[in-house]
Amino acid sequence: MSCIFCKIIKHEQQGDVVYENEKIIAFKDINPKAPVHILIVPKKHIASMQDIEEEDCEMLSEIFLVSKKIATDQNIDDGYKLVCNVGRKGGQTIDHAHFHLLGGW
Ligand code: 5GP
Ligand code: ZN
Repeated sequence: MSCIFCKIIKHEQQGDVVYENEKIIAFKDINPKAPVHILIVPKKHIASMQDIEEEDCEMLSEIFLVSKKIATDQNIDDGYKLVCNVGRKGGQTIDHAHFHLLGGW
């Protein structure tokens, strides 16, 4: 598996991890587009949000709770963006579904 995010999940590649549980990992974006830029990533390899299935619903709703927790921990709970790029035309460059948590302006 050559997926960069899967390598970070397996701790085979360095990632600045800020949160991790059984299903979800969150780490700092290597090329931040905001003062706080965290990627929130399902541990299951799902290529994009166009590939989610019924069985992923629980994990996906948990992502929103994790986002809230990280926003609080990072002191950006007064305002942030939660962004998901889908497909090349949607700006997705890494083919492992993820959300961008952006804030701290
Ligand atoms: P996308 O464009 O797919 O929505 O977002 C991919 C994000 O992953 C980009 O913001 C990019 O900076 C980040 N990224 C790419 N490679 C790495 C990496 O090896 N480590 C980390 N932490 N972030 C990465
Ligand atoms: Zn992957």
